[in-house]
Amino acid sequence: MDTLDTNILIAIKCPNCGRMNFHNISLFKLFHSLKSDLCCSCGKREASVSLKDNKTMIIDISCLVCGINHTYIYSLKDLLKRKVTVICCDATGFELCFMGREKDVRNLVSKYQENLYLLLDELGFITEGDDFIKGKTNRKN
Ligand SMILES: [Zn+2]
Ligand SMILES: [Zn+2]
Repeated sequence: MDTLDTNILIAIKCPNCGRMNFHNISLFKLFHSLKSDLCCSCGKREASVSLKDNKTMIIDISCLVCGINHTYIYSLKDLLKRKVTVICCDATGFELCFMGREKDVRNLVSKYQENLYLLLDELGFITEGDDFIKGKTNRKN
C-alpha cells in the first residue's frame, strides 16, 4: 500500500550568491511550527514556507530576478499529487523554485542545469572551452 509521503524537497536558487540549494521539508513538522525559513549557506533567506488550515501551503520566495518577494499559495493535496511543481517569477516567467518528490526534483534540476549549460554554451558565455577555441585559431594556415 502507498503511504502518503509528507516530505517534499524544495530546490531554490539563492538570490544572493546564485547557488542552487535543496531543502527537505517535512509537512508533518510544518504542521507544528508556524513558519519555516529556508536559508542559503551564505546566510540569505531564500524563502519561507508556512501552512494554513493544514490544507494550504504558502511559500514566499525572494526572487533572484526582481529582487522582491513573490508569494504563492498551493493546496497541499495538489502539491503532493504532483511529482514536481515549478514556481516561476510573476514578472519574468523565470523558474525560481522546484518542489515535490525528492527523486523527481533532483532529476529535473540536473536536467535544467544541463540545459542551461548548453544554452549558455551556445550563447558563448562559457569560457571553459578555451583550449578548443585556441586549437581552432592556432591551426596552421
Ligand atoms: Zn546564497
Ligand atoms: Zn520575480
